Amino acid sequence: MKLATRMSSLGTETAFEVLARANALAAEGRDIINLGIGQPDFPTPENIVEAGRRALADGHHGYTPANGILALREAVADDILKYRGVEISPERIVVVPGGKPTMFFAMMMFGETGAEIMYPNPGFPIYESAIAFSGAKPVAIPLHEDNGFSFSADEILALITPKTRLIILNSPANPTGGVALKSEIDKLVAGLDAHPGVAILSDEIYSRMVYDNLDHASLLAYPEIRDRLILLDGWSKTYAMTGWRIGYAIWPEALVEGATRLCINDHSCVNAATQYAAVEALRGPQGSVDHMVAAFDERRAVIVEELNSIPGFRCARPQGAFYAFPNITGTGLDARRLQDKLLNEAGVATVAGTSFGAHGEGYLRFSYAASIDNIREAMARIRGCL
Ligand code: PLP
Repeated sequence: MKLATRMSSLGTETAFEVLARANALAAEGRDIINLGIGQPDFPTPENIVEAGRRALADGHHGYTPANGILALREAVADDILKYRGVEISPERIVVVPGGKPTMFFAMMMFGETGAEIMYPNPGFPIYESAIAFSGAKPVAIPLHEDNGFSFSADEILALITPKTRLIILNSPANPTGGVALKSEIDKLVAGLDAHPGVAILSDEIYSRMVYDNLDHASLLAYPEIRDRLILLDGWSKTYAMTGWRIGYAIWPEALVEGATRLCINDHSCVNAATQYAAVEALRGPQGSVDHMVAAFDERRAVIVEELNSIPGFRCARPQGAFYAFPNITGTGLDARRLQDKLLNEAGVATVAGTSFGAHGEGYLRFSYAASIDNIREAMARIRGCL
């Protein structure tokens, strides 16, 4: 067989490999605490599950419009108005199977040999992977611990070249839990005035998970970039629906038709029952989201305190998502060796910072989507192990 050379550029998401290794060890009878995988440890709220069941019973078994049923796109538009204060036409919303397809579609649209696409590093690993796969050059936006892993607008603006087509931003962020500073977003948007051909993909999938009374600062709040902004969000994290596979993006008017055509070529539509469940998620009571976020907030305090008590670890307080990203350079081990040691010797699954890009060396990602008892037990094991 002769494969296309682009296959060698495709990366992966190591969290899935860590999950597989943790599961294999657990299958051998080892007691593993999994702080590696990035998904809520809560079940999907029952009213949402019931809406999915009802949709199946009601005969919603066929194809839907490729961009999603109108009732769902209208519910998304109302949600955007409620949480981001911006009126958006449902025509600009394209529903896809999760957060990831929007990334891939954006790379297919903008990426090709000779183009440059910027992405946060450390950042969600699929950005760099999909950019490279498209043939474009991935240009890292380095994120730094000393400003809470917010991006620096000056640093981004200085990296723009005539080849830059797209800038990917992610706040609240995976893997750092960092939240972009409003002042840096203001500065970036102002600076982009001089680069009208550069588009922005803002991954806001953790938008409902911000702490310390912060409001989520959305890129959608800036009318001056709305005709070149792709806003990615979805149900996976907010409603504990990672396995249902549904997400959406708001596309600039000029790109909606292309995004829909990509849907038709790729998956036709998201499965119908899931779309009805997603309507219930947005229109139904939000108490379970509040409850889950409050639980994450409580665990955040515990894990940060515990991590800072481990010799060689230093952990800043993350302000969003459900990840802590301690600096582990004081242990004398590199991130990958420490990840392996903790899994094999302490039975604690974490993900090396380098799984999120070269700038993640010296850090380890902990997901605190786990019970407080498990978090405390994991930290006790790590202290013992080190
Ligand atoms: N964006 C970020 C920043 C994520 O962390 C994730 C999942 O971990 C996704 C997107 C993908 O979400 P989904 O599972 O809906 O494809």
